[in-house]
Amino acid sequence: MSELEGAHPETDPDCLFCKIVAGDLPGEIIDSDLKTVAFMDINPATPGHALVIPRAHAADLKEISDDDLAACSIAARRLALRMEETLDPEGFNVLNSCGSAAWQTVFHFHLHVVPRNSDDPLKLPWIPQPGDPEEIKATAARIRG
Ligand code: AMP
Ligand code: ZN
Repeated sequence: MSELEGAHPETDPDCLFCKIVAGDLPGEIIDSDLKTVAFMDINPATPGHALVIPRAHAADLKEISDDDLAACSIAARRLALRMEETLDPEGFNVLNSCGSAAWQTVFHFHLHVVPRNSDDPLKLPWIPQPGDPEEIKATAARIRG
């Protein structure tokens, strides 16, 4: 067994989204391919809110393989284009939360695809205001390492 297989088991028997992929829990599936499944979110932020997930279990953005991340990104765009034809929204948010502090509640990687209209009730979760240029510079230096 390779190092990667041990680190990334294909399914987690306790994972809600693995159970949806396996058909052991109901899901309103709207698209799928070899590597991904897309289904409706049961708590939709707007009508059409859906989730795109890898078939292989990965807890979050840090764990998902490059191939599965690419497949999820491509599937999210495919879904957005289909929703554009069928639901005719004005735009989309494609969102991922990584970690509890960042609002992640289900620990099987997922991209939210949220159809948007200018009159919908969603709000940007921060107030954009100019940052301190010195702090921005210092943080950039820390990230570069
Ligand atoms: P997050 O908070 O980013 O981890 O997103 C998890 C999402 O999964 C939330 O938007 C939930 O509404 C959604 N969710 C939880 N359980 C289910 C389920 N059984 N079927 C569909 N969506 C679900
Ligand atoms: Zn899972």
